[in-house]
Amino acid sequence: MQIPIFHTYIHPTAKQRVAEVLDTTFLSEGKLVKEFEARLSRDLGMVHPAALNSGTSALHLAMVIAGIGPGDEVILSPQTFVASALVISQQGATPVFADIQYETGNIDPSDIESRITERTKAIMAVHWGGYPCDLDEIHAIARKYGLLVIEDAAHAPGATYKGRAIGSISDFTCFSFQAIKHLTTGDGGAICCLDPVLVQETFKRRWFGIDRANSPMSELGEREYDISAVGFKYHLSDYAAALGLANLEGFNERLARRRALVRRYREELANVPGLTLFEEKGDREGAYWLFGFHVEQRLAFIRSLKAKGIVASIIHDGIDHNSLFGGTRADLANQLRFNKTQIHIPIHDALTNEQLAYVVDVIKQGW
Ligand SMILES: *Cc1c(COP(=O)(O)O)cnc(C)c1O
Repeated sequence: MQIPIFHTYIHPTAKQRVAEVLDTTFLSEGKLVKEFEARLSRDLGMVHPAALNSGTSALHLAMVIAGIGPGDEVILSPQTFVASALVISQQGATPVFADIQYETGNIDPSDIESRITERTKAIMAVHWGGYPCDLDEIHAIARKYGLLVIEDAAHAPGATYKGRAIGSISDFTCFSFQAIKHLTTGDGGAICCLDPVLVQETFKRRWFGIDRANSPMSELGEREYDISAVGFKYHLSDYAAALGLANLEGFNERLARRRALVRRYREELANVPGLTLFEEKGDREGAYWLFGFHVEQRLAFIRSLKAKGIVASIIHDGIDHNSLFGGTRADLANQLRFNKTQIHIPIHDALTNEQLAYVVDVIKQGW
């Protein structure tokens, strides 16, 4: 038997809850989406979340509502999935990469300022593996230059920064509920927005630009509405929300257990030769979608674990290497170093204490 790196968590009540929606034959966006959004606020501290059909839709909607368009620039970390930069390109804007901290995989605030031009509109902070970026430093730069802050929190539902929930801090925060993320709706996402006026926009634009709550059905049988701005078909459906609601049961307990597993990993692996843990600070709590660190002799490490039935894997090289984004950048020294040594090992809801002890044991034997 192999110990996988990811595991899709599906709550035991999910089948029943999704089946109930199928029985009603009302599958699209309805009261379960509302209930899901209310629970995201209540349980995870997200502010005004609008549920969407993917994390990529959330990021794209943030771009649209932030007014990012042709000629604009958005500064982001290359240590992410391509979706983060694609949504910028989709708007005809340019992703501008700032270097990362080798120690965390997150954007390095001290490398942002020199990348700012008169075209820069926003900074996108990607919380690598679910470990929060240096948000105070990022916000200070954003304030100084009048930029928006958009968080790609695809890995970070439940994470906190200085006691505040991720999803309550920046102009826009985008979450993913894709199949292998911590909290899945199959595919799905959410956008949180602090400005109450823009919150209304997120709800309108996720459904073609139609204000669903304020467009009554006429006697003729159609909704009465007027489209005043481009909208999208980005809403979540009720059958997916039913899966999300089931998976929210016990989410905070599951997150606490994930954190406990990480604490054990970090204690056990702290002094292993050839292995360097990522750095952590006491003022924030990661959501740990991933557990990563740096290793020497990486291929030997992967092969050695594989031979013992454990999956270890790199997760995304710096996305700057893609030709669409201009090809590998020589001025991202930490990203280049990170590409060579990052590795991630199993962390998920199905990982038992015994399995963790076994993984630790195998690593301690050397590679
Ligand atoms: C998963 C992910 C996304 C995209 O989310 P989808 O729900 O798959 O569209 C965006 N950014 C990062 C960092 C991700 O890991």
